[in-house]
Amino acid sequence: MSLAARITGLAPSATMAVDAKAKALRAAGEPVIGFAAGEPDFPTPAHIVEAAQRAAADPAMHRYTPAAGLAPLREAVAERARRDGLDVSADMVVITNGGKHALYNVFMALIGPGDEVLMPAPYWVSYPEQIGLAGGTCVPVLADAAAGFRVSIDQLEAARTPRTKALVFVSPSNPTGAVYPPEEVAAIGRWAAEHGIWVVTDEIYRELVYGQARFSSLPAVAPEAAPRTIIVDGLAKTFAMTGWRVGWSIAPLEISAGITKLQTQLCSNVNNIAQAAAIAALTGPQDAVEEMRLAFDRRRHTALTMLRAIDGFDVVEPEGAFYVYPSVRDLIGVTVAGHSIGSSLQLADVLLDAAKVAVVPGEGFGSEASFRLSYALSDADLEEGISRIAKVIAG
Ligand code: GLU
Repeated sequence: MSLAARITGLAPSATMAVDAKAKALRAAGEPVIGFAAGEPDFPTPAHIVEAAQRAAADPAMHRYTPAAGLAPLREAVAERARRDGLDVSADMVVITNGGKHALYNVFMALIGPGDEVLMPAPYWVSYPEQIGLAGGTCVPVLADAAAGFRVSIDQLEAARTPRTKALVFVSPSNPTGAVYPPEEVAAIGRWAAEHGIWVVTDEIYRELVYGQARFSSLPAVAPEAAPRTIIVDGLAKTFAMTGWRVGWSIAPLEISAGITKLQTQLCSNVNNIAQAAAIAALTGPQDAVEEMRLAFDRRRHTALTMLRAIDGFDVVEPEGAFYVYPSVRDLIGVTVAGHSIGSSLQLADVLLDAAKVAVVPGEGFGSEASFRLSYALSDADLEEGISRIAKVIAG
């Protein structure tokens, strides 16, 4: 055995694994519909692509640039945070290779052996693994479907110990689509500040909220938490730019300097062409963002109506992001396509096999008997995919 223990003990990303499997089956000619990865089906808006084309022709962009990011991009990110009412300067911003890389940097800079991190569950698959890589311990705090998949202060307080270093706070949530109302965000921020707990808040779905739901940035509604809050965000979901890999962290100066130091040893600057595209995304016209949001909202309604009509599915209405997270508890023990279902992991396998539909089972998100569907796919695929699920479940 040559692999280091940190890798043998690492779980592969469940979302990436299911997505890769679905794409491989499609490449092999299978008519698979993928509800797995949260990846908008739209092309990146044209003005962003054109900015990248211009940057590719500029020799200055062919060279190393500062590890923390291009100055105008760091400033554009800071300016966006200032519009939320936050006191943010460009030197608090570090540009990263997507939001996932920003999170990894943050956990490496903040968390060490003996530190506990409170993790509202269901949670996105990569947080616990990244915290483990940093030597910390993830402490899941399970949010009930009946509570709209939102954790309460009482639950957080019950999980707090003298070793609690940080809380990961995500609203809108991946995988449930839950959005915390401003007063709940503020209360959680105040509770964290009172106990000297750091907050790592992932705002990647901030532009994708629907109906009455509103996004609130935690340090904006709980200013007392701001000195110990780190924001992580990126362009992938808002601007249909998953493949460009541009994200960032906004952190107090000491942490941000630590992250920059790490980045100088790890990867230097993020691809300059993608950073130039990011500047265009943040500073250019925003009409496409709203158009895509409206399309996701339409698909959200379709998904909700169709899934609720399936026997054995219990579906909480998602208010943000582009995921829906049905409970399939009533199907455990039931026979589907000739298999007696023992878990959502097994049900996901059966659906891939019998319905040619890929979903991510709840086990990867720290909750059982559920699965996640992304509705960031075309309306036609969405309807066809859920019809196939319904048919296989109905037998
Ligand atoms: N964040 C997306 C998802 O949850 C992308 C895949 C990933 O990085 O896990 O599907």
